Amino acid sequence: MASPPKAERYKLPFPRRYLDRRAVSIVRQLQEAGFESYLVGGCVRDLLLGSRPKDFDIATAARPHQVRRLFRRSRIIGRRFKIVHVHMGRDFYEVATFRAAPEETETEEVETITRDNDYGPSWEDANRRDFTVNGLFLDPVAEEIVDWVDGMRDIEAGVLHTIGDPEVRFPEDPVRILRLIKFMRRLDLSPGDAEIRAAKNHAERLSESAPARLAEEVFRLLATRQAAGVWDDVQALGLEKFLIPELQVWLKQDPAHAQELGKRFEALDQMAAEGFETDYAFSLAVLFGPWVEQEFDPARRTLRVSEFSQVASALTGEFQQRARLPRFAVTFANRILAAQLRLDPPEFLGSKGQRRWNFKGMAGQEWFPLAMDYLKLRLIASGRDLKIYQDWREKDLSLKRKDS
Ligand code: ATP
Ligand code: MG
Repeated sequence: MASPPKAERYKLPFPRRYLDRRAVSIVRQLQEAGFESYLVGGCVRDLLLGSRPKDFDIATAARPHQVRRLFRRSRIIGRRFKIVHVHMGRDFYEVATFRAAPEETETEEVETITRDNDYGPSWEDANRRDFTVNGLFLDPVAEEIVDWVDGMRDIEAGVLHTIGDPEVRFPEDPVRILRLIKFMRRLDLSPGDAEIRAAKNHAERLSESAPARLAEEVFRLLATRQAAGVWDDVQALGLEKFLIPELQVWLKQDPAHAQELGKRFEALDQMAAEGFETDYAFSLAVLFGPWVEQEFDPARRTLRVSEFSQVASALTGEFQQRARLPRFAVTFANRILAAQLRLDPPEFLGSKGQRRWNFKGMAGQEWFPLAMDYLKLRLIASGRDLKIYQDWREKDLSLKRKDS
């Protein structure tokens, strides 16, 4: 990028008390030490859109070692790019040095050595970010929004635009396409036409992104509480085959399968609206559940795995290895899925399904509450009565009462 663009400055459009006191104090101390510094990214966006930020990130002209020196309780975290965690009370805040525009592609997983010229002026740091609404800087001392990217205009219009041409920014880091969907759904913003076109044009580049990063975004998308809408978007943009290629085998078998999954997502959203929070294990079970259930059934089975206990791991195993999912989460997902055979025996089990088994043993397992939630999700998704779920719950509660 050549000459620095001019920043628009806006007076803070909300009361200062909305800002996190400690984050403000970190910015103030950095500024007093002579370093240009701001609150940046998601927190600025969320505040301007009227929601409560998850965390407050800070960007500064100070180099990591300089930040480290200013704050006694701080630590340099050296991943691809060095940032400093400044601890305050029980929390910590991420303080990152302004980074230069383009550059390093975020698709490589290797640790790149931080060279001095990776750092840049604040306006370049704003410009290297993904969407204009994510590129706004907030100066809590001057009480101003500093806008190098026309982000305020897009906040006001409620639209998502990439910073620069989406035909360049999406191929540069295809994970941004998934972030587009996440922000559309979570923040209720409409995407620009060019963004939609570019997302479709470059969908297949997603297969070049690091599987672990992709998986991470998939799990975040499922946690938006709008998984059904996300699934519609994913299909409309033609992304499904690149997200979890392993699942594609099953999706391709029958067009009804995508709808079946959609029903599970709707049920997940309904439960989320009632306060349920999904996690890795549960989301994984939601993703692979319908397929696993099909493979349990001798009449519908397509693979050669017939041992119930091995079906789930046979299907999730490849995804877990490729995306390096946490092993315990995959184990939990597999248990949750296998437990359904007991909690809600399918017809093909016949009298075998009615055999007595040790409920207390299962109820004592760490994953049991999730298996129950999953049973509920399946019942909701297929429009069935919740009675069996409630009966097991009763039984579980009365066991616990007896034990205590
Ligand atoms: P969330 O609320 O989900 O955390 P966020 O916007 O804070 O959303 P983060 O992943 O925490 O997202 O990233 C923080 C900031 O870093 C973003 O607001 C954006 O400015 C920038 N950023 C994150 N990922 C990318 C990317 N792939 N390309 C460019 N900039 C990015
Ligand atoms: Mg964030």
